[in-house]
Amino acid sequence: AKRKGGARYKLFDPSMSEYAFNRMETEAGLRKAIENRELEVYYQPQVDMNSGRLTGTEALVRWQHPEKGLVMPGAFIPLIEESRLIVDIGEYVLREACRVQAAWCRAGYEPGRVSVNLAGAQLHDSGLDRIIARILTETGCKPEWLELEVTEGFIMEDPAASVPMLKRLRDMGISLAIDDFGTGYSSLAYLKRLPVSRLKIDQSFVRNSVMDPDDAVIIEAIIALAGKLKLGLIAEGVETHNQTELLLELGCDQAQGYLYGRPVPHQELELMLKSGR
Ligand code: C2E
Ligand code: CA
Ligand code: CA
Ligand code: CA
Repeated sequence: AKRKGGARYKLFDPSMSEYAFNRMETEAGLRKAIENRELEVYYQPQVDMNSGRLTGTEALVRWQHPEKGLVMPGAFIPLIEESRLIVDIGEYVLREACRVQAAWCRAGYEPGRVSVNLAGAQLHDSGLDRIIARILTETGCKPEWLELEVTEGFIMEDPAASVPMLKRLRDMGISLAIDDFGTGYSSLAYLKRLPVSRLKIDQSFVRNSVMDPDDAVIIEAIIALAGKLKLGLIAEGVETHNQTELLLELGCDQAQGYLYGRPVPHQELELMLKSGR
């Protein structure tokens, strides 16, 4: 898991107690949230920018808190990355996403693949492939309908175990995307050994690309790299037509971002599927 959290806080740092308290409170609340079914999975469209057509979705967790309302994952996922809870929540999201995906496919819709985020603790669990196989069987979701998103950082924490695990998942028919690509450790040497099907260009580069030539250059480099290694690409955080134009010009035609749709509950994504977008 990310080492940004508790481990580095100094013993007498006054912010530590507040952080520790917040974390404890969050963990206790989340344990109840799983039991009380307060966690919800939202789906954000991924599209082909040329046609505007849906090519897939990303499953993103939300916490429908009884008092606080809708809590975003940025407010709780980082606090539980060192805890067993992240594995439980990860499995919950995976099962729910596979269940919904299977229902969409049975209904005759074409949702593309559903992408689910994997936390480091899930990736480093030697039983992950068995857990996923069970979820696929239970939900009737085909492995070809599922993509897993992993960051470079999580892979590089334990490449000796991660690479074989990711290969087993690939051999089952599941795709792998590298999330937040360009922001993590340089794993270029590993990239060609990994069973990756696509890179997700991090939104920080996309955000400034139109104004900042340096970010456009980074995007260009990622696109060139993906081309050489024959990997797919998708740009994250596309919010404007100018960004779309630039990305298409540079050679990336897949995108996910507010311009094309925010993350929404499954019922709302279903309306998009019905309208045949
Ligand atoms: P991520 O995996 O990089 O997901 C993309 C985030 O960018 C999502 O935030 C999404 O709502 C947001 N986003 C998409 N398009 C745009 C855009 O055009 N502009 C802007 N400003 N943002 C955009 P969200 O849903 O708040 O999730 C934040 C992070 O929480 C995710 O980043 C991921 O790291 C984590 N996360 C979410 N769901 C899960 C989960 O089920 N498991 C795990 N392990 N992590 C999750
Ligand atoms: Ca992601
Ligand atoms: Ca991302
Ligand atoms: Ca991220």
